[in-house]
Amino acid sequence: MRHTDKIYVAGHRGMVGSAIVQRLKELGYHHLLLRSSAELDLRNQAAVFEFFKKERPDYVFLAAARVGGILANNTYRAEFIYDNLQIEANVIHAAYLNGVKKLLFLGSSCIYPKFAPQPIPESALLTGPLEPTNEPYAIAKIAGVKMCEAYRAQYGCHFISVMPTNLYGINDNFDLETSHVLPALLRKFHEARISGAPEVVVWGTGTPRREFLYVDDLADACVFLMNHPEEPSLINIGTGEDISIAELAELIQQVVGYTGKIVFDTTKPDGTPRKLLDVSRLHEMGWHHKTSLKEGIRKVYEAVFLQGQPGIFQRKRAV
Ligand code: GDP
Repeated sequence: MRHTDKIYVAGHRGMVGSAIVQRLKELGYHHLLLRSSAELDLRNQAAVFEFFKKERPDYVFLAAARVGGILANNTYRAEFIYDNLQIEANVIHAAYLNGVKKLLFLGSSCIYPKFAPQPIPESALLTGPLEPTNEPYAIAKIAGVKMCEAYRAQYGCHFISVMPTNLYGINDNFDLETSHVLPALLRKFHEARISGAPEVVVWGTGTPRREFLYVDDLADACVFLMNHPEEPSLINIGTGEDISIAELAELIQQVVGYTGKIVFDTTKPDGTPRKLLDVSRLHEMGWHHKTSLKEGIRKVYEAVFLQGQPGIFQRKRAV
């Protein structure tokens, strides 16, 4: 990408899209094309085709999606499959029609089979049944990956897909019902410290293991891959390291400075015992994450809870 190229970031208001925009700006890319969902409904084929024809972006980061936690995924199954299929079909086809030089499509690690080998290699895709609760979302994301592959094969388009591990960052969802574990625990420990509560309840047994990537590092990896001449059709993005939920709780407790007790509520589900991506391909290409988990947690804690950005708890995740 040259600094003068026109770069469209679809989904720039979400956690991932906003981090990509920030990284592009830091690196001196200034010709950014951004549209909110109110300005451009990506499910509307005519609107998307008209937008691409008029604006003719050189590069596209496709970070727009309907997203949510386990409850939302399971409840709004029809919306999750329809909206995501429409967004991908419209944007990817419009990118092909209008000669986009390269497109990067953001998937999610939940597209891999429920019982995939750990750490999960890219080759595990479509080798087994999916987790039923988010199957409609995963099927839509797999369709996006396969569209990119098909457009490469038939039309020679430079379209690639990336699969990020569990992400966290400043624009995260901090709602205790619908958020993921890291933002939920940050909030729980912070509120317990402020109120002087004697204990914090952590769901499950604390033994499941998860991998966490700071979203600014993901954005850096996306820009790295956009600029890299090698074009894997599918590539995992993560740290290659995982941690148990109990260890995560202790780390967050330290960062927050909470001195009370941690209690495990074993009536709540543990979910998958382990979710770790195999990132050897990305490491071989020369990219490594930069932000340690402790440093990332500290950054989020300071920005969200200590400097208190207004409205932060209402924001939704992007991917
Ligand atoms: P998952 O990675 O798709 O399983 O999603 P989550 O991030 O929601 O949960 C990861 C693990 O953290 C599960 O074992 C949860 O039971 C556990 N966990 C512990 N406390 C919490 C909490 O307060 N909120 C959430 N969402 N998960 C928690």
